[in-house]
Amino acid sequence: MKPFVVPATARSWVEVSPDSDFPIQNLPFGVCTAKGRGEFLAVPIGDHVLDLLALGEAGLIDEEDFPILDSFIELDREGLGTLRQAVFELLHDENGALRDNKKLRAHALLPTAQVKPQVPIPPNAFVDFYSGIHHASNVGRMFRPDQPPLLPNYRWLPIGYNGRASSVVASGTPIVRPKGQTKPPDADAPTFGPTKALDFELEMGFYVGHGNEMGKRITCSSAEEHMLGLVIVNDWSARDVQTWEYQPLGPFLAKSFATSVSPWIVTLDALEPFRVEGMAQDPPPLPHLRHHGKPHFDVVLEVWLQTAKAKRPRRVAVSNMSHLYWSISQQLAHQTSNGTPVEGGDLYASGTISGPTEDACGSMLEATWRGQRPITVEETGETRSWLEDGDTLTLRAWAQGDGFRVGFGECSGTVKPAV
Ligand code: MN
Repeated sequence: MKPFVVPATARSWVEVSPDSDFPIQNLPFGVCTAKGRGEFLAVPIGDHVLDLLALGEAGLIDEEDFPILDSFIELDREGLGTLRQAVFELLHDENGALRDNKKLRAHALLPTAQVKPQVPIPPNAFVDFYSGIHHASNVGRMFRPDQPPLLPNYRWLPIGYNGRASSVVASGTPIVRPKGQTKPPDADAPTFGPTKALDFELEMGFYVGHGNEMGKRITCSSAEEHMLGLVIVNDWSARDVQTWEYQPLGPFLAKSFATSVSPWIVTLDALEPFRVEGMAQDPPPLPHLRHHGKPHFDVVLEVWLQTAKAKRPRRVAVSNMSHLYWSISQQLAHQTSNGTPVEGGDLYASGTISGPTEDACGSMLEATWRGQRPITVEETGETRSWLEDGDTLTLRAWAQGDGFRVGFGECSGTVKPAV
C-alpha cells in the first residue's frame, strides 16, 4: 500500500503559519466537542478545526464510505488514508467546494479556541513498553549499580506490561496526586499516603486500527498496516510507590492512576518523510522481530515545566523518538507473537524516550538522578526533585519539514493536591 504523502509545496486556503503543528501536510484526526454540538471527528488545520461530521451531513464527505465516528477505530491504515485524502482535497488551495461555501465553512471550520479535544479514542486496552534504551540503562545504573545496566532479555525482546486503560485521560485533565503504600529503606513497615515522588514519563504511543484474529500473529512487515497513527503519552508515575510494589510483577498502582494523551492521532502517512533507520540492534533480533528499511521516526520531543509561581514554562528536556531501541512495528509483532488478539482502539505506549545526554531525560527520575540533583526554575529560584502540587507538565512533539512541521500539539496536565 502506497502512503498518501502531501507534497511539501502544497498549501491550504486556510491560513497556516510556518511554525504551526497543523499544516496541510499533517491532517491528523481527533474527537472534539464544542458548544451546541456533540462529539465529532475533527481534523485540525492551522488555528482551526474541521468538523468532519458537518462535512458528512453536507455531503462533502461520503458517509457511507467513511462511517464518521462510530467506526473510526475500525479503519485500517488504508481506510484512514482514504479519509485523509478526501480532507486534503477539500482543504487544498485550488478546491473551492468548502472554501466558497460561506455558510458551510462558518459551520464546519471552527477556531481551535472554541473546541474541546477529547481522548481521541478511549482505549479498551493500554500497554506500556520499555523500549527507550537510554531510559532503561539509566534506571538500571540507578537501581542496580553493581550489575550491567540492562537486564539480559532487554536486547532480545521489547519489554512491556499491561497498564490500565480506564485512567487514560485527555490533555488538560488535572492530575490528582495519588495515594499509595510506600516504605522508606530505613522504615520497618510501609505507610499509606500521598506520593512524595510524583514523576512524568515522556512517551509516544500508537493506536491499533483493525486487529488480528486470535491465534494469528501480526508480522513486523505488516504491523504498520494495523496502526491508525501516533499520539504523545505522559505515563505519570509515583516513584516511591513503584519502588515498594514493583517486584516481582512490575508496576501496578504506581502508574495506573492517570495516563495523559495528546488530542490528535498523527498518521504514519504524514510521518512518512521523517523515517529513519534508528540505532543498530545488537544482537540481531530473532527472525520474527526482524525488519528492513526505516522503521523509526525523526520526531523531536520536548518537556516543559511551569510551576504555579512562574509566569512561563521552563524547558526540562529535548529528546527524539528515534532514540527507541525497539520500533513500533517490533512492539506490535512481539505483542501478537503468541497469538493474542489486539483490537481497534488499543493503545500502545513506547516507554520513556530519553536521549544519550543529560539534557534529554524523559523523566524527573533521570533529570534529578532520583532526586539527588534537583533542577532549578531560574525565573522563581524554586527547585524540583519531583513534581509538586500546582506544577503543569507539558510534552510537545513534532517532525520538522522544509518550511513546515508535522506536529502533535500538546500533552499537558496540572498536578492537584491529594484528596
Ligand atoms: Mn512508562
